[in-house]
This record gives sequence, structure tokens and C-alpha cells, in this order.
Amino acid sequence: MTDSDDALLPLDAVRPPASSKDTKGAPSPAPERPVARVVVDSPLPHLDRPFDYLVPDSMHETAEPGVRVRVRFAGKLVDGFLLERADESDHDGRLMPLERVVSPERVLTPEIAGLARAVADRYAGTLTDVLRLAVPPRHAKAESAEPAKQDPPSEEPAKQDLPPAEPSQTESAWNAYPTGPSFLDALRDGRAPRAVWSALPGARGWAGATAEAVRATLDGGRGAVVVVPDGKDVALADGEFGRVLGPGRHVALTADLGPAERYRRWLKVLRGQVRAVVGTRAAMFAPVADLGLVAIWDDGDDLHAERLAPYPHAREVLGLRAHRTGAAMLIGGYARTAEATQLVASGWARPIAAARTTIRALAPRVRPAGEDAELAKDQAARLARLPSLAWRALRHGLENGPVLVQVPRRGYLPALACLHCRTPARCVLPPTRRVALPPDPHTGAAMTIPGAAAGPGHLCHGPLALRGGHAAPYCRWCGRVDADWRCSSCGSPRLRAVVTGARRTAEELGRAFPSVQVRTSGRDGVLATIPAARALVVATPGAEPVAEGGYAAAVLLDGWALLGRADLRAGEEAVRRWMNAAALLRPVAELVVLGDAALPAVQALLRWDPVTHAERELGDRAELGFPPAVRMATLTGAASAVRQMLEEVRLPSDAEVLGPVPVDESGQERAMIRVRRSGGAALAAALKGASGVRAARKTPDVVKVSVDPLDLI
Ligand SMILES: [Zn+2]
Ligand SMILES: [Zn+2]
Repeated sequence: MTDSDDALLPLDAVRPPASSKDTKGAPSPAPERPVARVVVDSPLPHLDRPFDYLVPDSMHETAEPGVRVRVRFAGKLVDGFLLERADESDHDGRLMPLERVVSPERVLTPEIAGLARAVADRYAGTLTDVLRLAVPPRHAKAESAEPAKQDPPSEEPAKQDLPPAEPSQTESAWNAYPTGPSFLDALRDGRAPRAVWSALPGARGWAGATAEAVRATLDGGRGAVVVVPDGKDVALADGEFGRVLGPGRHVALTADLGPAERYRRWLKVLRGQVRAVVGTRAAMFAPVADLGLVAIWDDGDDLHAERLAPYPHAREVLGLRAHRTGAAMLIGGYARTAEATQLVASGWARPIAAARTTIRALAPRVRPAGEDAELAKDQAARLARLPSLAWRALRHGLENGPVLVQVPRRGYLPALACLHCRTPARCVLPPTRRVALPPDPHTGAAMTIPGAAAGPGHLCHGPLALRGGHAAPYCRWCGRVDADWRCSSCGSPRLRAVVTGARRTAEELGRAFPSVQVRTSGRDGVLATIPAARALVVATPGAEPVAEGGYAAAVLLDGWALLGRADLRAGEEAVRRWMNAAALLRPVAELVVLGDAALPAVQALLRWDPVTHAERELGDRAELGFPPAVRMATLTGAASAVRQMLEEVRLPSDAEVLGPVPVDESGQERAMIRVRRSGGAALAAALKGASGVRAARKTPDVVKVSVDPLDLI
């Protein structure tokens, strides 16, 4: 920390007032380790460090590392966590005493404290912000209802002493993957294998296999954390975990449990009574002791990204946890993200996938119906604009059980593409600003970046859009209008918004199959499961219920809508949503997708080959300068604030600035900063520093900093 930074710190905040009632009021210090390092609940980035307080003798026993405390800070009583006890303080002058220890429960474990610091640094956030995500608010009743670990009652044996469940009668799900059994062996042996797992289709397979991996970890004497996208997935996994692990050996954590029940379960984990956790994204911070495995299912789902500052992503947090604790990691999904592919490409993780013959025996038989597909002759089906291929597949499927129709959600922002060849239209102007590289230290000559193609692109590559009245497209990232735009693939100067596809309603579709029950699952209510009976299930992506025994057929109606979204991940996301729906079918059931067979995303589904698609996607992103090939950060806020911060921030060399551009009518602007991956830590530190300077100056307009945001539109 520099001198000038020091001047910004309100050191007076932690000094007792000069005229304190010292002679009488000052408590006597604890006999040993009288200094407490406390992280105080302050969102201010320039105060993101521990402050020292005096431990009064009366709190010597309870003021242990990890407890919640109340302290006086800048004249106010605030909450904090006690990080450590020390013999001495670097702070000269007398220390303020701790006000009180809120509870002797040591809720912040050393592992989570260290992880939270690493997450804050990765995302240019503060420790306090991350701790707010990591440690749930105290629920006093739940805390006192169960005795603390330090004092176990003799009549109730700790849960982990229960005999393990009987070995499952059925064969291991991992036998279907050539390297599956050795992955389980490594978990059981206490090693740290890291795998990106392409799961075979089948509705419950992933949950059962994940439960087996957790079981192997527990059998090896270690704990496990499993994070899944939503409550439906938690419910599915909860059931499988109960079956595979036996009763009382895991807890499920979801937001909708209510604060008391959620805290009660969380305490069981903290106290070591339970060593396996499955939950939605907040569970990524579950304080499992002796962590042996972290796992994430369907890491491409947007729900894995935290909505609160500093917006960490569950895959990144779990990766940091695995790295820091030496735990194993399992990244699973039917589809594959570019981020997971990057982990394989760098050698950090190994792929687990089934042999082609196994895949062929289980995957649906996919048939594409292009734009020009012939409509069904049936009058009602024609009104619902169902291609005859789709209509026949559904009618045939309905003879044997439930069928699924995936319809698009409303409100996608359409992307611009080349009118002629459909290549997405991207900005081909240079970045708004590029931070110069320092001159070569030996020759003094300007340096060039070795392997520049693998770093940030030399061009902006932001998505183009049309604004009312303008014939020429403008760039959503750097804001410039490009009157001379030409398609990078075919040279055509003409653009169009990608067709978003017609929205078919459940009623329209139902009329095409008049004698069948129609059930819907989506925004107005999500069905978790449906029975094996004949039914037409109409669902939006992500809301498809699991059908008992699997669907007999399915039609994916949202091809163009998904692929045409103005989102850099549109192709990857389309494959993910299609495969997640397709995985719910019976083996080799018929699946019709509305999309052109020539499109890479449709090819991935046709061949059930998410890996080739993801590898191609990663290659494209490296070429264009998109994450995860680069680190990207956005600054969003009032126009003047964003511009001021851009001027002040000391960006790492080779950083590229795009924008700022207006984001809405309210005068807010957004700028993007892009650096090579190796510059990610320096970028986060620079942005944190600039935020700190603004906060210390009490600048009123807050600039929201987001590192690697998902919504790069
Ligand atoms: Zn073109
Ligand atoms: Zn641009």
C-alpha cells in the first residue's frame, strides 16, 4: 500500500476518541493474543482490509477466529468477522476494544475466508461482498437449537458415524465411460482428479452418477460440494443422493427453504455432522470440512452466475476451491461450454466421455427440418405452422407415451447477420483505445506481442445493431457507426435481423392433437415431472419436466429464435438447451429440430457431439477476442462517472478499451476492457484500485464493475 493510499484511510475510525473514559471504561486486554483482526462490514473498496481491535479479557474465550463480532467503526456499530488473533498490532496508538462477540459459533472457516479473498481479487470485489454471499445471515434460534460441535451431546451420535448405505445393487453409471471407473477410484483414494464430463443422455443418469462420485469421496474420508442450476435439479439430485449415500449423509441447500431451515442445514455442514452438500449456486461456499470433491452440473446455465456483487460464477469459484484445497473437480453436462473446453485444452482437466457406440445406442434419432420444410397437410397442424416431419413424429410418439415440444420464450433480442450468408455481423473497427506495450527493455524498440492472435483481437468484434432511422449499423460495444461494413465471410454489404421464428402457443399445438391432454411448463409454473401417460408437453427451454420412463418423441421449435439471439454465446446456448431437452427422451426416440442441417449447432445435436462444437466455439472466440480466450470487464454507470474512471484507471499494458456506449435512455453508459488471460489479475487489481480511489473521494456515482459478465450483448 502506498503513502497516498494510506492518507485515504480513516485511521481515526478505529482509534478511540481522544477524550475517552479510559481510566475507568477501558477494558483490560485478554491475557494472550490480545489483538483481533476483523473484517468489518463495509462495502467501500478502499477499506477492504482487516482492522485491528483489542480483545477484552471478558471475551478471551469466545473471540476465536471465525466468530461474528460487533465493532465500532467510523463512529458506528457494525458487524464483522474475526479473522485471527495476534500478539501485536502494526497499528500505533491504542486499539478500540471489540464491542461484543455475537455468538461463539465459528461460522467463517479458514478455508472459506481464504477462498472469499481469492474470489474478491478475481472479480475486482471486496472481501465483505463475497462474505455476504458465502456466510448466511445468523438465525439465532437455529444456532441454539442444535448444540455446537465443540460440545456434542453423548446421546446423539454424529451423523458421519452412521454405517454407510448398502452398496448399490445396480451397476455403476460410470462403467459406461472408459475412464469413469478410474475417476471413482481416484476419488476413493483421496486423489484430486479433475474432469470435464460429457454425460450420456438419460434424465436421471447425471444425478445418479454424481451421487456415486460423492459416495466414493465420502468413502475415502473426504467431503463434497455439488452445485446445480435450479431447484428442480436439486430435488432430482437430493433423491439420488439419498438412495446412493444412505439417509442423513447429505443436505440439500436451496434459497426457497426459508432462512431458519437453510441455516439449520448449513450449520450441520459447518459442524461436520454432514459432509456432502448439493444445492444451487450459494452452496458453492458451503463450509464442508476436508473437501475432496467439488462438482458442477450444466455449467453453461446462466443461473450459475451470481446476481450480486462481485458477480462470481460457480464454475470459477469451485475451480478456485479445488485449486486451493487440492480437491477433485467434476464439471458435467450434456453439452460443453467453451470455458470447460479451455480447461481441457490447457491440461487442467481431462475429458470423460462415452464411446461412440454407447452414445449411438442412447441418443435420440435427430432429424432437422429447415426453413423451407413442408408444412403438415392436416388443417390444425398447418395453423400451428408445424412442419409435416414434426407433426408425424409427435403423432407417432403419442401412440407410446408423452411427447415434448420445446417452444421459445418471448423477448429475445435478435442479432444482425449477413443477409446473404447469415454470418453474425461484427464490428471490424479497431478498439477505441489500446494501452501501449512498454518499449522493449533491451532495444528500446516498440514491442510486438508474440502470438497476438491468441490474445485480444486487434479489432473490436462487437455485435452490430441497427438504430431507428440509420441505414448503417452501429456497434453495441464501441458505439461507432460503420457505414462501409461488409460481411467478413462473403463480402455482402447487406444486413438483416435474424428471423426469430414464429411463436406457437400451447393452444395452437393442442388443436393439432385434439384427443390428447396438453400440459405446459414455463414461466407461469414449472412442472418437475410428469407420468408416463400420453400427453403433449409444451415447455420453454430449461422448464422441461422429466417424464417417467422418458419422452416418446420431441420437437424443438425454437431453432432460429435461439440461434438468432444477440448473444455471443447463442450457438453454444442453443446446443445446451437442445441437448438438455433431448436427454429426456427414451433411447433412440425420434427428435425433430427446426433448423438447417448445415449449421454447426444442429450438427452437434445430430451427431450428439458437443465436444467438437465447443472446440470450434473456443477457437472462434480466441480469434475474435471473446472470453474465455481473454478476460473482459465492463464498467457501467453514469456517463461522466464511467468516463472519469476510464481516465483514472491504470490499465495493464496491451489492454483494449471499447466504448463507452449508452446502454439505455437513462444516460447510463457502458465501457468494456479486454486483456489477455494472463493480464486478468492485473486488470482486476487496477479496477479495484480505481473504485477505491472513487470511494475514498466520496464520489457519489457508483460505477458497476463486472469481470467476465455472461451477458456480452
Ligand atoms: Zn455474408
Ligand atoms: Zn465496435
